[in-house]
Amino acid sequence: MILLDGKHIAATIRQEIREQVEQLRAAGCRVPKLVIVIVGHNPASETYVANKMKACAEVGIEAEKRAFEASVTEAELLAEVARLNSDPSVDGFIVQLPLPEHIAETAILSAIDYRKDVDGLTPANVGRTVQGLPSIVSATPRGIRELLARYHIATEGKHVVVIGRSNIVGKPIAMLLMQRPYLSLPSMSAASLGNATVTVCHSKTQDLASICRTADIIIVAAGSPKLLTADMVREGATVIDVGINRVDDPASPKGYRLVGDVDFEQVAPKTAYITPVPGGVGPMTIVSLLQNTLQAYSND
Ligand code: NAP
Repeated sequence: MILLDGKHIAATIRQEIREQVEQLRAAGCRVPKLVIVIVGHNPASETYVANKMKACAEVGIEAEKRAFEASVTEAELLAEVARLNSDPSVDGFIVQLPLPEHIAETAILSAIDYRKDVDGLTPANVGRTVQGLPSIVSATPRGIRELLARYHIATEGKHVVVIGRSNIVGKPIAMLLMQRPYLSLPSMSAASLGNATVTVCHSKTQDLASICRTADIIIVAAGSPKLLTADMVREGATVIDVGINRVDDPASPKGYRLVGDVDFEQVAPKTAYITPVPGGVGPMTIVSLLQNTLQAYSND
C-alpha cells in the first residue's frame, strides 16, 4: 500500500508556482492577483479565506480580501462582481460560499466572468468542462486529478466509482475522469488520465457495496465517517478519500479530530494506493486554487 501524500505533492507544486511567479517578477511583469470576496462573519469561511490568503503570500501571488457585512444586498454584490470582472489588474476572484440566505448564489456565480472564475464554479466553466473546452476546473477535482497524475495512476479503461454527486466534487471529478484526455491541464504529467468508465453513486444508490467492489478506483466525497468499509473494496484498488468529518476525541486537546469517509485502518491494507485524512486531498485543494489563479493570469 502506498500513501498518496497530498501534503508533499502540494509543497512541490507550491515551489513550482513560487518559481514561476519569481520569474515573472524578475522579468519586470506584474505578478498574478487574486481577490477573495467574503460576506458576513461565518467563522469557518473566515478561516478558509485566511488560509487562502496565506497560501497566496507563500508563493508570491498578490491577494486582496474584500469584506462585506451580511446585510449587503444582492445588487451591491453583483456590482462588485461586475467591477472585478472589468478590473484588468485582477486575474481571478472568488466569492466565498455560503452566502447569506437573501442572496441567490446562482445569480452571483453566473455573473462572474468564467475567465476569472478561479473556483471553477460558474455555469459557463462547468459547461465548458462538460464540452471538453478549455476551462478552469474547481479546486478539489483538479487536486484529485493532479494527485493521480503525480503518482502516475492511469485512469484509462479503469472503472472509477465516485460516491457523492455535489457540484463541487462528485459531478466534476466524474466528468473529468470520463473525458477524452485532450482536456489535460497544462501542469498535468504524462499519466493517462481521463478515458475512465465512471459510475456515480449517491444516497439513493442501491447496493453501494457491490458497485464499489467492481471499482479499480473509488473516490468518496459523501461527508460520512467510515462509509467505505473493507468489505466494499477489492484487493489492489485505489481509494481517494475526500471527506472531512469532525468526530469527538476526548484524547485530543481540541476534543475532536478530523477523519475522512473511509474506515482507513481496515481499508488501507487492501489498497494499492490510498489518501490519508488529513494530508491527502485537502492540501491539494488549496494548491489547486493557486494553479487556477496562475492559469487565469496566463490566459490573458
Ligand atoms: P455534499 O454536497 O453534502 O454531497 C454529499 C454527497 O454524498 C451527496 O451526493 C450525497 O447523496 C452523497 N452521500 C451522502 N451520504 C451517502 C451515503 N451514505 N451513501 C451514498 N452517498 C451518500 O458534500 P460535498 O460538498 O461534496 O463534500 C463531501 C465531503 O467532502 C464533505 O465531508 C466535505 O467536508 C468534504 N470536502 C473536502 C474537500 C477537501 O479539500 N478535502 C473539499 C470539498 C469537500 P445525495 O445527493 O443523494 O444527498
